[in-house]
Amino acid sequence: MSIGLYIHIPFCKGKCPYCDFYSVRTDEELMNRYVASLVAEIGDWADELFNKEVSTIYIGGGSPSQIGGIRLRRIINAAKDNFNFVGNEITVELNPSDDMDEILPELAKAGVTRISLGMQSAVDEERKALGRRASADDVKRAIEKAKDNSITNISLDLMIGVPKQSLESLEQSLDFLKSADITHISFYMLSIEEGTHFYDISDKLVLPEEEDVCQMYEKTIEELEKSGFKQYEISNLAKEGFESQHNLKYWHCEEYLGIGPSAHSFLDGKRFYYPRDIELFINGTKPINDGNGGDFEEYAMLALRLTEGLQNERVIERFGKAIDKKIFNRAKKKKFKGLLKVNDNSIALTPKGFLVSNSIISELIEE
Ligand code: SF4
Repeated sequence: MSIGLYIHIPFCKGKCPYCDFYSVRTDEELMNRYVASLVAEIGDWADELFNKEVSTIYIGGGSPSQIGGIRLRRIINAAKDNFNFVGNEITVELNPSDDMDEILPELAKAGVTRISLGMQSAVDEERKALGRRASADDVKRAIEKAKDNSITNISLDLMIGVPKQSLESLEQSLDFLKSADITHISFYMLSIEEGTHFYDISDKLVLPEEEDVCQMYEKTIEELEKSGFKQYEISNLAKEGFESQHNLKYWHCEEYLGIGPSAHSFLDGKRFYYPRDIELFINGTKPINDGNGGDFEEYAMLALRLTEGLQNERVIERFGKAIDKKIFNRAKKKKFKGLLKVNDNSIALTPKGFLVSNSIISELIEE
């Protein structure tokens, strides 16, 4: 089976107060050194994995658009030229406040088919609280510019449970998403992670009540499904046929290679990752072993993030035997009514179930 290729671009203009992704401040000299190392590392991996095909490429970050279109094109071409690329999905994450006039034509030349735009909220006050620079108008302009360059598969990000957000203000973001000509939406609940600025000031943060956040989650799905999107994963909706093929590889527990500081990989049953340090990467530090992966437990945990859920057919294909009856019996318990959909061949969470997915999943598969 073909693998997914993830490439991490760890540059951002500043640090958003909620973010725990690995990134460093944009710096021209460092970007040049990084891109040169990245291209060399792509070549080395392609030699090592000469017998594997790559069917999706995903450039994420950080803010990939911070390095500009010419560097991005160089990286994408290196990936396409070195690996045996057989797919048709190449995604790049973009920050709409970066120079879309320069970047998008370069991405089109490189054969990029899909972009993911960071918006988080269409409400100025909420975006400001999240430290986001792009305005709703910047997002609109980026969408238009992408279409001018024939890139029509466009995803937007939305965050829920953010400071100053209410069910009413969420309406404004949902209206924006409904009227934007896009194919995919990722929506995340804010979580306060250690090491972020929000974590340091968490006692002063005024966040919506948990009950309201749950309502926001359900409302987001309900409203967007009414306008042609379909939820396919706990945090993702797409128009039919526009589900992210790259991310589906993660949730189907398929193989992927991640290159760049903090990037994780799963290849030949092994997990490994690069340290979160750009200088170590540039100096040639190799990834750290993270043990074996891909057992049934892990597979089931990932599958249950999808609305299609854990499917017997897929399990048989992968593990050579059906889902244990004990798991079906647990799933049929009265307390999971309304939270799980169970039939003879599959177990899947409902939107209400997704809100308490961790506890349900661990009860189903770890008992
Ligand atoms: S949220 Fe995005 S733009 Fe902000 S610091 Fe994190 S990676 Fe950079």
